Amino acid sequence: MTDCIFCKIARGEIPCRKVYEDDEVLAFHDINPVAPVHFMLIPKLHLASLAEADATHAALLGRMLLLASRLAKEQGLENGFRTVINTGSGGGQEVFHLHIHIIGGGNIPPMVRRS
Ligand code: AMP
Ligand code: ZN
Repeated sequence: MTDCIFCKIARGEIPCRKVYEDDEVLAFHDINPVAPVHFMLIPKLHLASLAEADATHAALLGRMLLLASRLAKEQGLENGFRTVINTGSGGGQEVFHLHIHIIGGGNIPPMVRRS
């Protein structure tokens, strides 16, 4: 994808504060963090969202979840962290390249407030 911002970051055309990189994935700090630690893990492969993933992506998605946990600990989140995957406009997704948010290090409120 030529005009996808996360593809451009993955290709090195837009700078990022890198957390981790290998052949398949890239992790980088969110430009607008919601907590002291907030970074994202993306596949280098352009996948618009989790809704576009299928069985051929199972190994990649599994690797990403395991890596999310490892990187969270390496970023100091030994006490735990939140992972968020927004999917589609109905899920509040703004950048249409699959990404896992890894968030922690502060006061993490309940994700859904019940009255
Ligand atoms: P989402 O709402 O799940 O699609 O999240 C998109 C995230 O991408 C937001 O948290 C943005 O702050 C973040 N973001 C957008 N552009 C950049 C960028 N150039 N570098 C790092 N993070 C970005
Ligand atoms: Zn992309």
